[in-house]
Amino acid sequence: MPTGTFVVSTSRARQFIDITSMVQEKVAASTIADGLCHLYNPHTTAGLTINEGADPAVQSDILAALQRIVPLDRYQHLEGNSPAHVMASLVGSSVTVFIENGRLQLGTWQKIFFCEFDGPRSRKLLWRIT
Ligand code: ZN
Repeated sequence: MPTGTFVVSTSRARQFIDITSMVQEKVAASTIADGLCHLYNPHTTAGLTINEGADPAVQSDILAALQRIVPLDRYQHLEGNSPAHVMASLVGSSVTVFIENGRLQLGTWQKIFFCEFDGPRSRKLLWRIT
């Protein structure tokens, strides 16, 4: 089955990066026209989510809300990046999208986002089409 990795370079401490087109390229290049596309993020301070991609203000609003939900102090973890660990758990580490006729079946306004919470870093994502 088609499988591989993406490298995502982030430039800010907290950032959403639209990876929809790179995922769609792998789907289009695969021989599986109808199936599932799985994405997995193997990092503890980053995540994956699907949400609105039409208005960039939505991404900013989600990041701002996560920062209001997750206080930036009062943690035991000595590395000092516990807010990033908490945010990563809140958004989750994987997404699965249906594929039909070689196309990701996202909603009209949906995009797939890599969510950086402890950047900037070079990150790796795993993908598999079944
Ligand atoms: Zn840590």
